[in-house]
Amino acid sequence: MNRAHFLKNIESVWYNRFLRGMMHKKVSAEDFFNEIRKGNISYLGRAITLVESTKKADQLLALKLIQHCLPFTGNSIRIGITGPPGVGKSTFIEVFGNYLISLGKKVAVLAIDPSSSVNRGSILGDKTRMEKLATNRNAFIRPSPAGNTLGGVAQMTKESIVLCEAAGFDVILIETVGVGQSETLVFSMVDFFLLLHLAGSGDELQGIKRGIVEMADGIVINKAEGNHKQAAMLAKKELENALHFYPPKENHWKPKVNLCSAIHDQGIVEVWEMITEFLVLTQQNGYFESKRAKQNKDWLKKSITELLLHDFFACNKVKSNIKTMEKRIEHQQLSPFDAAIQLIELYKNKKEE
Ligand code: GDP
Repeated sequence: MNRAHFLKNIESVWYNRFLRGMMHKKVSAEDFFNEIRKGNISYLGRAITLVESTKKADQLLALKLIQHCLPFTGNSIRIGITGPPGVGKSTFIEVFGNYLISLGKKVAVLAIDPSSSVNRGSILGDKTRMEKLATNRNAFIRPSPAGNTLGGVAQMTKESIVLCEAAGFDVILIETVGVGQSETLVFSMVDFFLLLHLAGSGDELQGIKRGIVEMADGIVINKAEGNHKQAAMLAKKELENALHFYPPKENHWKPKVNLCSAIHDQGIVEVWEMITEFLVLTQQNGYFESKRAKQNKDWLKKSITELLLHDFFACNKVKSNIKTMEKRIEHQQLSPFDAAIQLIELYKNKKEE
């Protein structure tokens, strides 16, 4: 095992401290850019830490760096992977990632974990996750930062994609736990959205969160081995039947259901074949490009909302009035809508502060 590489890839408190220490050394956006273009993953990690930083100076440096990187992005395949805890996401990503590397690809794994603010970095906090992939020099693994809003985390992930692509990663796997709104956010930044599922008993759709099936381009039933194989095959049939009743997708792709056993490295090649088939179709019919263009437009709107909200709640006039207004709302002396109008007026006049 290449220990140095392992340390570079695994998020740990000490690694973060080490990065922060290194941050004190002045490195220009150009230096970062040059190292990232060389595929230096230590610098890639440091650059993502910059993107995640709340310090103004770091943010400005990150903006400059992203600007440098933009012309070198867009060349990867972005795959979202979701599913409930325990379904086998990390086991799957470990084997899938290693398979892609065996095909000559460079694989980056970014994780969005909505529970990380409560349970610091739970998604990748466990060092044993993806151990083999983490030690591979053609892989880069990064958990989402803890303690941020989901919108903020998603924004950082979007910027991390730009950095990973500039560093030459051809496949970016974006993992999320199937809770909260995180799937919708991941869906808004990927080309292919994969749902990992476990065969249940009875109504298959009942076990899946509403809306997810509509977003999924592929469903993979994991742990389809031994005694579970039969149930998995039944679940596959049932899901395929259910998918028939969904309206056809704009991109003309018919979502597929596959079986796999991540732990036994079975069905992995077929998942990549499904994704390749999807890519050929959507690249030929132009949907691939148009979806990315739409995603960028949506991200512009999302970024404006995020920045405005942040600025609004940081405004002194808003801060000094909001508590009193909340009390008045509580005592039915003021409507929430009226309060919102008044606060926005105060915010609009904030230049006079
Ligand atoms: P995650 O929470 O979705 O990331 O799930 P993990 O990858 O951590 O897997 C949860 C548990 O399921 C672990 O104990 C894995 O060893 C096990 N597991 C994952 N894939 C398979 C599989 O294909 N078959 C079986 N039997 N167990 C699996």
